[in-house]
Amino acid sequence: MEEFITSNLDRYQWLLDRFTMQPQPKVTPNSDSSLDNLVCARIRPLAEEEVAAGLPASIFIRSREPGTFDAHELRHAVRGKPVLRSSAYTVDRSYGPDISAETIYEDAVQHLVPWVWGGGIGTLFAYGQTGSGKTFTISGIEKLAAKDLLEGNLEGDRKMFISMTEFAGNSAFDLLNGRRAISVLEDAFGNTQLAGALEHEVKAVSEVLAHIEYATKFRLTEATKRNDTSSRSHAVCRIRIEIHDIPGAEDGFLYLVDLAGSEAARDRDTHEPQRMKEAKEINVSLSVLKDCIRGKVEADVLIGTQTKKKPYVPFRQSALTKVLKHVFDPAGTRVCKNVIMACVNPCLLDISASRNTLRYAEMLRVFVPQVKGVK
Ligand code: ADP
Ligand code: MG
Repeated sequence: MEEFITSNLDRYQWLLDRFTMQPQPKVTPNSDSSLDNLVCARIRPLAEEEVAAGLPASIFIRSREPGTFDAHELRHAVRGKPVLRSSAYTVDRSYGPDISAETIYEDAVQHLVPWVWGGGIGTLFAYGQTGSGKTFTISGIEKLAAKDLLEGNLEGDRKMFISMTEFAGNSAFDLLNGRRAISVLEDAFGNTQLAGALEHEVKAVSEVLAHIEYATKFRLTEATKRNDTSSRSHAVCRIRIEIHDIPGAEDGFLYLVDLAGSEAARDRDTHEPQRMKEAKEINVSLSVLKDCIRGKVEADVLIGTQTKKKPYVPFRQSALTKVLKHVFDPAGTRVCKNVIMACVNPCLLDISASRNTLRYAEMLRVFVPQVKGVK
């Protein structure tokens, strides 16, 4: 396939022209997006080596319809010249290759900060294939969120704690403790506990940055030692806000989740049993995550209503969603705000993976009909 594309590159000249001629839109929200379940997609810039190889970008944001991506793919024709197949995907917010972390943060994530400070639950998931910019996006946002939480003049007597864990299949590791193995347990009350995971109190942004740096280092060294585990595991940064000035207030939680590479779920070329097992587990966890997000959005709308409808939230079906139990538990009474950031490499060679990513993102846009009695 790669060879087919590179030998037909000249047919892409018009795309290249279009890309250079048409500036991509600045951030403009899609009008019907709700901040409670915000589905975004970010295109990363082409890498230097992709540009050097003459590979063009082939995913663009529509200038008149920000929120909609056009993806172009070169296909074999039965006879004659290869043909271009185009498809379109729509999300709530789209970010082109020149949009900064600060802009994305302000536009899509910042609203979670006062929410979790006040005892709410907020999540940010980065989804996409390996190399699409998930870690880049999450680490940029982690720093900005920490700065806002600790230096943003938020009121109240609160304490902030951080933990960083990694999930591969049903195993879990503490990234703030030398990647020590920890267990995911359910206690007698049905709450998920991470036995052995360390949680650190943080009082200054520099402390948060030091923890992130330490965790990233462990994730990366393990990854090189053990055949790139980082693309085949989920990393979860959890920030917990303890509220001392409101009696009985529940803790606020902000989860920043760097998901396993979406291509790992399709890793079927391997004959290694361990790899096949991992691929299956990743597949399950990403598809369970999708069902949980969809189900929970519905459940949140139904909170406080008389309806007997029970949305389907299969959070017990994967270690990742079990750990995020209080995000997804349909029996829970807390609304959770989600932000999903689909990360996309626009390079022509990655087009089919990028289309899968955008398709997954589209499925996370849930439109729940208004129910009577909901504020
Ligand atoms: P992933 O975590 O999805 O595997 P990374 O975040 O590691 O991908 O990104 C892959 C490469 O692309 C890295 O070298 C990263 O620095 C670069 N990159 C990703 N997103 C951007 C961006 N928005 N701007 C500049 N470079 C980026
Ligand atoms: Mg990564």
